[in-house]
Amino acid sequence: MSSPYLVLGRVSRMHGSGDLTVHALRRVSLTVAPGELVAVMGPSGSGKSTLLNLAGALDLPTSGRVLIDGVDVTTASPSALARIRRTRLGFVFQDFNLVSSLTAAENVFLPLELDGVSPRSGRAQAEQALESVGLGGLGDRFPDELSGGQRQRVAIARALIGDRRLVLADEPTGSLDSQTGESVLTVLRDRCDAGAAALLVTHDARHAAWADRIVFLRDGALVDSASADEPTPEMFGASR
Ligand code: ADP
Ligand code: MG
Repeated sequence: MSSPYLVLGRVSRMHGSGDLTVHALRRVSLTVAPGELVAVMGPSGSGKSTLLNLAGALDLPTSGRVLIDGVDVTTASPSALARIRRTRLGFVFQDFNLVSSLTAAENVFLPLELDGVSPRSGRAQAEQALESVGLGGLGDRFPDELSGGQRQRVAIARALIGDRRLVLADEPTGSLDSQTGESVLTVLRDRCDAGAAALLVTHDARHAAWADRIVFLRDGALVDSASADEPTPEMFGASR
């Protein structure tokens, strides 16, 4: 097996303090290898979004280690983290997060533009990414000229553009009809088959069935997994 792209080692995340402390995650260990799609399931409030935010270095653990492509996010510089997020990570959030004043193609192109890719090349890549999610020819539409399902696919295209090695999707099919939801998952599955690593939060067992592995969270703890491989000390290098 290739070395994992994402490693969470005994990760805990607490919010607040004293009697009001919320243990959003408790000593969660998880690895995701290139080519692997891992589904995260669990009741509301069980820590799924917290897990995804930590996996994307949008949040830092209270204790434990998070490695993305071998980079320890707890010790990396803010600029190094920003670069990883901009070039290697794709996020799909529940609320789409499209910029309403930009066209579909411009929304998709945005991460590349932030990374200094030329508009010409970025535009071509955006059209290709839109094509891959079944939105060929709709690049000039603004978000409010698209249906909910189409907007979500724009968000997926944006998360996949460029050389994204780790895709983090938080209930990406939440507001979609089941057929559109399936098509979004097909795109995600294809991307993993092409070598990306992905974490998919979902409530829907039919969607989780697209994953190679399903992990279950309850009260912030990983309670079950189809084949959980605990990270070994070697994965953290010589410092441990
Ligand atoms: P899920 O995505 O599974 O619904 P979350 O990861 O959003 O769960 O939340 C896990 C727990 O952590 C919940 O009890 C939630 O209220 C709490 N929590 C999440 N973010 C914060 C925060 N910023 N401040 C305080 N509590 C939080
Ligand atoms: Mg959530």
